[in-house]
Amino acid sequence: MMLDHLIQELDVREQKGLTRRLRRMDEIKEKGAILFSSNNYLGLAEDAEMKACAAEAILRFGTGSTGSRLTTGNSTLHEELEQQLASFKGKEAAILFSSGYLANIGTISALMGKDDVIFSDSLNHASIIDGCRLSRAETIIYKHVDMEDLEKKLKENPAARHKLIVTDGVFSMDGNIAPLPRIVEIAEAYGAWVMVDDAHATGVLGSNGAGTAEHFGLTNRVHLCMGTMSKSIGAEGGYVAADHVFIEYLRNNARSFIFQTALSPGVIAAASAGIRLIQQQPWRREKLIEQASLFRQGLKKLGFELVEGTTPIIAVVIGDAQQAVDFSKRLEEAGLFAPAIRPPTVPIGTSRIRVTLTASHQAQDLDFALHCFENIGKEMRFIP
Ligand SMILES: *Cc1c(COP(=O)(O)O)cnc(C)c1O
Repeated sequence: MMLDHLIQELDVREQKGLTRRLRRMDEIKEKGAILFSSNNYLGLAEDAEMKACAAEAILRFGTGSTGSRLTTGNSTLHEELEQQLASFKGKEAAILFSSGYLANIGTISALMGKDDVIFSDSLNHASIIDGCRLSRAETIIYKHVDMEDLEKKLKENPAARHKLIVTDGVFSMDGNIAPLPRIVEIAEAYGAWVMVDDAHATGVLGSNGAGTAEHFGLTNRVHLCMGTMSKSIGAEGGYVAADHVFIEYLRNNARSFIFQTALSPGVIAAASAGIRLIQQQPWRREKLIEQASLFRQGLKKLGFELVEGTTPIIAVVIGDAQQAVDFSKRLEEAGLFAPAIRPPTVPIGTSRIRVTLTASHQAQDLDFALHCFENIGKEMRFIP
């Protein structure tokens, strides 16, 4: 069947401890494990009001949208959600995609082309990387959050037709925040657009939970605010908020918008409720940030090495891939679910346990988690 090379590659992966396996979270939860790995930062994905809104929309409008936005899939619900997102993000307009992944590949590949140059942080999300590849623009990777390197690279490329600087707002594997004030200054000095992927910042950062640009007071100076509704918003789907010219252009050119079935009514209704609850219930993100700070302090006091930051994504660096897997396995045996993140997702030698907190965690959950980390850390001799 000519499958030998596939089998061989899978074997090599297995030997390196890099095989990816699916886990059934329903079973893990049933066993009583506490999740420290969810993107459901504000606990909205199980919220009763969210469920009721989704259920009502399904009963009224059906389970599927039945077409792409430009054919038979568009509705008042979709357009109202776009308006809601635009106003939440402080932008003129917004466009929905079926996922954050599709928002990134569609937007970057529509806006940038062969004679253009994209400047991309070395730790940007895979969907940004794929968007850059699809665009066929020259993509120049700058060192992670290194603003001297970014400026140097812009200086070296004055001839590009159009320039785009693209960055995660909060980096998904490290939990640190992009240095947006400096990025915006450099972009303005060299005539580049700025695009921020706020998948992990929306609902978490900013006085209204609008994300990284709001956190730094830079909403008007970030051209493209991209995000997903699958994390703190508790639903599904991606979006870009920007000036209406950008949005009109994307509606006409972004292939992952044009050739994709529109999001279904239940998803749209849940997303809309999620954005409303983020704005109405600031206590969720206040609790989240406070707990993240306490938990970080606790881990550091125990002697763990963390990637510095203030967000609910907490990277506990273990180093070796197999040891990270072992650590994670022992956490799970103790009743705590937090996955090991290994290469190629993160650089070699920086395998880690990625802990994420949510507003649904209680004080006793955090105490329990610290206790598990302490015991296993001592047994495996990571901490004194
Ligand atoms: C999760 C994520 C995405 C993709 O969003 P989906 O809606 O899951 O497709 C894009 N960028 C970043 C930084 C993410 O963390």
